[in-house]
Amino acid sequence: MWQTVRERREGEPKDPIVSMIPVWSMVLAALFFIAAQYFFFRVLPPPRPGILPMRMLISYSWGTAFASYLLLIGYISRDVRRRGMSATMWMLLVLVMPGGIGAVVYFLMRQPLLQRCPSCSTEVEAHFHFCPQCQFQMAPVCGRCYRGTQITDVYCVNCGHDLAKDSTPERLRLYSD
Ligand SMILES: [Zn+2]
Ligand SMILES: [Zn+2]
Repeated sequence: MWQTVRERREGEPKDPIVSMIPVWSMVLAALFFIAAQYFFFRVLPPPRPGILPMRMLISYSWGTAFASYLLLIGYISRDVRRRGMSATMWMLLVLVMPGGIGAVVYFLMRQPLLQRCPSCSTEVEAHFHFCPQCQFQMAPVCGRCYRGTQITDVYCVNCGHDLAKDSTPERLRLYSD
């Protein structure tokens, strides 16, 4: 039965970072990159012979910097929602604070991912052991001290409780069906 749980877990689809970046920010990033090239090679006076490699390096790095920043903003705009945080406030902060400081603050302050209780669909924080609405067990815990355990542990590492004596939690019964 334990095996079944682990196999199902590995089979679950991963959340690739690319699916978190909206199309509008990809398009904007590409446009800004092209605009940077246009500025450095068409708007500025033509480079004197000898500084062309330097000009190419600068235009490329500026273009990449702008493009990455736009992709980052796109990522945050989606990430903020799946964490139940205020989208308007954070997008404003990230855009207003200069030089990407807003993004750094965001990654330091962001809330943990929300997940849904499989039993009652309440949004539950990732570190919760039990659903606050229906008592559904979200993570393996010791039946005596209720601290977290590994699914493969035989005894609780905190209180030494024999974990095999616990009744099978609802969560595992769901998987073993
Ligand atoms: Zn629930
Ligand atoms: Zn324990």
